[in-house]
Amino acid sequence: MGARPASKGITVHDLVIRGGIVVDGSGMPARRADVAVANGRITAVGPVVASGHREIDADGHIVTPGFIDGHTHLDAQILWDPLGTSSCWHGVTSVVMGNCGFTLAPSREGERHLVIENLEQAEDIPAAALAAGVRFEWQTFREYLDVLERVPKGINAGVYVGHSALRTFVMGQRAFEQRASDDDLDAMERELRDALGAGAVGFTTSRSEHHMTSSGAPVASRVAEWGEVERLVGVMQAAGGGVFELANESSMTSPDPEVRAEPMRRLRALAVATGVPTTFGITTYGDPNRWQELLALLDDAAADGGQLWGQSSCQPSGAVFNWQTWLPFDKLPEWGELRRLPHDERVARLHEPSVRQRLVDEVGDRDFTLAKEAVKQSFFDRLVVMADGGKLSNSLASVAAQRGVHPVEAMIDLGLESNFGVFFFQPTSNENPVDVRRILEHPRTVMTFSDAGAHVSQIINASLPSHLLSVWVRERQVFSIEQAIRMLTLVPSTVWGFADRGLIREGLVADINVIDPATVAECLPTVERDLPSGAVRLAQRAKGYLATIVGGEVVLENGVHTGALPGALLRRARS
Ligand SMILES: [Zn+2]
Repeated sequence: MGARPASKGITVHDLVIRGGIVVDGSGMPARRADVAVANGRITAVGPVVASGHREIDADGHIVTPGFIDGHTHLDAQILWDPLGTSSCWHGVTSVVMGNCGFTLAPSREGERHLVIENLEQAEDIPAAALAAGVRFEWQTFREYLDVLERVPKGINAGVYVGHSALRTFVMGQRAFEQRASDDDLDAMERELRDALGAGAVGFTTSRSEHHMTSSGAPVASRVAEWGEVERLVGVMQAAGGGVFELANESSMTSPDPEVRAEPMRRLRALAVATGVPTTFGITTYGDPNRWQELLALLDDAAADGGQLWGQSSCQPSGAVFNWQTWLPFDKLPEWGELRRLPHDERVARLHEPSVRQRLVDEVGDRDFTLAKEAVKQSFFDRLVVMADGGKLSNSLASVAAQRGVHPVEAMIDLGLESNFGVFFFQPTSNENPVDVRRILEHPRTVMTFSDAGAHVSQIINASLPSHLLSVWVRERQVFSIEQAIRMLTLVPSTVWGFADRGLIREGLVADINVIDPATVAECLPTVERDLPSGAVRLAQRAKGYLATIVGGEVVLENGVHTGALPGALLRRARS
């Protein structure tokens, strides 16, 4: 490796990033240095004398490793959107797909509808988009990895084997109805072993009540007994590699301590017995004991020699909505009729005082609060009008009080004033920054719970890195820039075993961001109609990213795609 000689004997690099402040991902202090790249790898960090075929002036900017997002559902999207938007706009250069048991492989010819059945409702990816955008040129997971390797990608992607797909591959329709026989289990083990051998990053499952098919039945993985999960994680142990991710049963965060003790005991026992790195999401919700017990569980497993990782988020979780996507009142008759009108007619009607009054009256005292159990305030007190830069300060109730109108009227007026561009957010968890900080600072959590690619019309958390840098580093000054960059790079690369990424270090793959720390921030979401079926999804851009480099090639400059598609499939090496 190293730079190669140019014609006149002067060494040149493919790329030199000059004069930036290198925050190398390790947590060590930032320092001014040039970074040189050749053949897709970092070749020098320090004073670089020789020139580059391409040079980036990074004066006033930080130079960081590319960010790694360990919890995405970009499996389908990456096949029609090779950049993996919106993640790439926030400096994410590597994603892990196939979380929570949902993958596009393995999948049998003639049974593709069963794969879609598992995915569409649970992750809110429209079936029409899946049908139009996914060609299913594979059956086994190994064949799928080969396809994924071939498809042009702007970012790197690794993928787990999902339990729902694996079970459906072996059992067909029975996967949604029956316990697995010994033959079924043997067949699942064989396919999983082969997938891990081919480079799957691990195995995932869901036991969560939230994960249903479109007909309201449990997804396939939820029909499995715990013993089936134990056997499959045992395959990972024997294969000597991979991460086990799960969406926990809802009983794990039950208000009743007795009820949540049992699933915690089981999970700890499995992690300790197998030694397989095991990971699940932790957010604050309701009674603080619940998430504090989950943090204690991470420590308890570690004390016994197991590896449990909590996946955290630095943003409040909840639902995002907008006049162009959905509103909580859509099912009310008067509202439903209005919402079906063409744009101009709808605007005209919303100016009529009698119509406005009817819309207000129809909402009346009805309570539309999401996650009622954890919530004390009224719906409108908790409904936030989103502002630029990820700020969540103004409730709709306070905006309405300022204007001297009913909150529903305020919602109508804000819609009209913004040409229906205004966004509303109702948080359901992770609201109190003091609590969230405790989770983020826990040494066995990894800040990665974006769910990017899922719930495409209802949430948008792909902006986690920008939110961390703007809100937690610049505004709140809770984390130093070195700590924050480490959370986005070295920590996830270590958890997922991407040994040649996650640091700015000579010899490592040149996945790099050049960022203005004074301006980096998330923009307001936008409504896009760019799914293969023409269906709506939310997108969210960022400010402050001068360049995002993948494998040594500049993929984005000031948020604009250069046309380069250098992304690689990340196959996990067997240990
Ligand atoms: Zn998920």
